[in-house]
Amino acid sequence: MPSKTETVTAARPGERAKDAGRAGDNRVRTLEVSVYKVPTDFPEADGTFRWQSTTVVFVEVESESGHRGIGYSYASPAAATVINDLLKGVVVGADVEDVRAIWNVMIAGVRNIGRPGIAATAISAIDIALWDLKASVHELSLVTLLGQRRASVPIYGSGGFTSYSIQQLQDQLAGWVKQGIPRVKMKVGTDWGTRPEVDVMRVRAARHAIGDEAELFVDANGAYVVKQAIDQAVYFSQSGVTYFEEPVSSDHLEQLRFVREHAPMNIAAGEYAYDPWYVRDMLNAQAVDIQQADVTRCLGITGWLQASDIAYGFALPFSAHCAPAVHAIIGCAASTLAHIEYFHDHVRIERIFFDGVLEPKDGELRPDLSRPGLGLEFKRQDAERFLHTSPSPAGGGPGG
Ligand SMILES: [Mg+2]
Repeated sequence: MPSKTETVTAARPGERAKDAGRAGDNRVRTLEVSVYKVPTDFPEADGTFRWQSTTVVFVEVESESGHRGIGYSYASPAAATVINDLLKGVVVGADVEDVRAIWNVMIAGVRNIGRPGIAATAISAIDIALWDLKASVHELSLVTLLGQRRASVPIYGSGGFTSYSIQQLQDQLAGWVKQGIPRVKMKVGTDWGTRPEVDVMRVRAARHAIGDEAELFVDANGAYVVKQAIDQAVYFSQSGVTYFEEPVSSDHLEQLRFVREHAPMNIAAGEYAYDPWYVRDMLNAQAVDIQQADVTRCLGITGWLQASDIAYGFALPFSAHCAPAVHAIIGCAASTLAHIEYFHDHVRIERIFFDGVLEPKDGELRPDLSRPGLGLEFKRQDAERFLHTSPSPAGGGPGG
């Protein structure tokens, strides 16, 4: 005989809430989406992309009981269209107790438009908002609601853009180390991998600035080709680099695996995981030593936690990509976690947008469990000046 839970999971959550006639206070009454475009504080570039602004697709939900939840993705404004056209209708009226059932219905709802990519970022923003709302309804920290596994999360400082001068690069990385953050990441692959000697020189300069003790990570954003990446890995290892992210494109897992097998340091990738099954495929291909995933892309908190479970199943380290304000919370509940990315752009934006953003201490972020949900309060007036009203093909900014 099916359990009550199984019956609930099989139902469309909106219908269930209306039909069951119970727990009405926890039904989602409204869902609003808005788009903000925030200029960077300096032109930024990595190995394969340049940008001067970052777009935030921001979701607010409210329950019949008057509780509120927020979620967001660093994504294209097109995600807001997907939310309004395809997803809002299945979320409003649903019972927020059933976040995972709503997640299933959202995934089914985007089948014919292509789920990976823009639709996945739209689902992610909503799923984050629903978990925040559910925790608020129960007056619990989201860490507690999800099940705490650790009290704090280790972070690494991330930026070091290829558009920075040597001085800017050194100042930023050394600044994080002075704050007590014992690991930092910089971009390499300058100008689509056409200036490898410049990358080697910049990595040496970075090591000189941060001293011998701090861990130094590099990220090529897929700028190199295979043999070049292995050559570069050897040069970078001479500066004590222990982590090399996307040395080659993540689109070709067999190439990533070849580099992993021949490079002297850990190879990381996974920021383009738009669902947990991508993580499964990347790990099955033995393409990485450290698996990454991003809650604002990987189908939200529901999908990101599944990704962490898959990495746990493969017994490999798991690292969160960007969006530190959300990862600091859910990272405390992940089945496995190496560190989260304290990405310059997003740290800056999240401080502008939210009260309750955590400050690093001893290289970690430690959630305040007395704050409900994500522990964030939206500073609407401060965000207002970045409101993006006109349709634009601009992307979300690529991230770390
Ligand atoms: Mg990256």
